[in-house]
Amino acid sequence: MSNDVLVFVEFADGAPTKAGLQALGAGAALAGQLGGQAVALVIGSGSADLGKHGAARTLVAGGDAVSSYSPDGFARIVSEQAAATGAAAVLASATPMGKDFMARAAAMAKCGLAADCTELKAEGGKPRAVRPVYAGKALQTVEAPGALWATLRPNVFAEISSDGTAAAENVTVSFGPGDLKAVVKEIVAGVKGKLDVAEAEIVVSGGRGLKDPAGEGKQNWENLEKLAETLGAATGASRAVVDAGWRPHGEQVGQTGKTVSPKLYVACGISGAIQHLAGMSGSKVIVAINKDENAPIFKVADFGIVGMVEDVVPALTAALKEAISG
Ligand SMILES: Cc1cc2nc3c(=O)[nH]c(=O)nc-3n(C[C@H](O)[C@H](O)[C@H](O)COP(=O)(O)OP(=O)(O)OC[C@H]3O[C@@H](n4cnc5c(N)ncnc54)[C@H](O)[C@@H]3O)c2cc1C
Repeated sequence: MSNDVLVFVEFADGAPTKAGLQALGAGAALAGQLGGQAVALVIGSGSADLGKHGAARTLVAGGDAVSSYSPDGFARIVSEQAAATGAAAVLASATPMGKDFMARAAAMAKCGLAADCTELKAEGGKPRAVRPVYAGKALQTVEAPGALWATLRPNVFAEISSDGTAAAENVTVSFGPGDLKAVVKEIVAGVKGKLDVAEAEIVVSGGRGLKDPAGEGKQNWENLEKLAETLGAATGASRAVVDAGWRPHGEQVGQTGKTVSPKLYVACGISGAIQHLAGMSGSKVIVAINKDENAPIFKVADFGIVGMVEDVVPALTAALKEAISG
C-alpha cells in the first residue's frame, strides 16, 4: 500500500463542486500527514487544474460509459483506481452522489466504509476518520485493517488553494455503456436558482412555531424567506413542517433529512428535538429564536433570542439590511 490518498472529486456542470474541492483539501491534508500525495479522480466530462486545490496527480476517466452518472459505473472506476494507486485512504464527499456509490465501491474493494466523517487524521502512520454516531451524541474514531474508505460531510473540511499543477492523466474505463445496470438520464432541479440547504454557508430554518403558511403563518414564512434572502441563505425546515406539507422534503434538516454544517444556522420556531439537532449541531454558529426560554434548541445555540418569530424575524431582517447597506 502507498501513503497516497485517492479523492473522488465531484463535478457538476463541467466544474468541480464546492464539496468535491473540500474533500480534495481534506485528502491533501491527510496525505501530507501520511507522507504521501493526494490523487484526484475525476469521472465524466469537465476539467479544472486540481493542482490548484491540493492534488499532486489528477486521474480522469472519461468516455461514453461515464458521460452520465451511474452508481455501478462510478463505483467500479473508484475501486479500480483505489487498487491501481494502492491508496492508503479513499475519499469522496457525503453528497447524495457520494453516499450513493461509495458503499458499493468499498464493497467491490472488499473494504468497509466510514460514512459522513467530520475529521481525518494520521496516527501511528495510519489514516483514521472521526464520525458522529447516535444522532451526534458521540464521536467514533475509525481505523481500517487495509485502506480507509470514507465519505466526508460537506462544509466541514476546508478547500485548499495552492500554486501546484496536476495535468490530467487519462485512465482506461474497463466497461462500456451496455455493461451498466443503471444510468441517471436526467436531473430535475426542485426550485431553480435556490441554494441547497446541505451546501449553503448560511441556513435559515423554520419550524412549527411559524404556523401554517396557508393560514395564519403566511406572513411568518414570507418573513423567513426575506431573512434568508438578506443573508444570502438557503432555507431549511424541521420535519414537523415537512410532514405537514408546509415545506418540501428537500429542505428537511435532521436525522431523516439533510445534515448541514453551515457557518451560520438560524433556527426560527424550532424546538430543538434530538432528531433535528442531529442534522445541524455541527453548524459553526447557531442562532435560535423561540418564544419558550426552556426550548432545547437554546442548549446548542451560541445566541438565543427569546421572543415571537412574528416580531423578531422582521426586526432582525431590518437590522441586517441596515448593517449591510450602512
Ligand atoms: C425517527 C424520527 C426521525 C425524525 N427526524 C427528524 C428530522 O430529520 N428533522 C426534524 O426536524 N425532526 C425529526 N423528527 C421529529 C422531531 O422529533 C420533532 O418532532 C420535530 O423536530 C419538531 O419540529 P418543530 O421543532 O418544528 O416543532 P415543535 O416541536 O412543535 O416546536 C415548535 C417550537 O416553536 C416554538 N414556537 C411556537 N410559536 C412560536 C412563535 N410564535 N415564536 C417563536 N417560537 C414559537 C415553540 O416554543 C416550540 O419550541 C424525527 C422524529 C423521529 C421519531
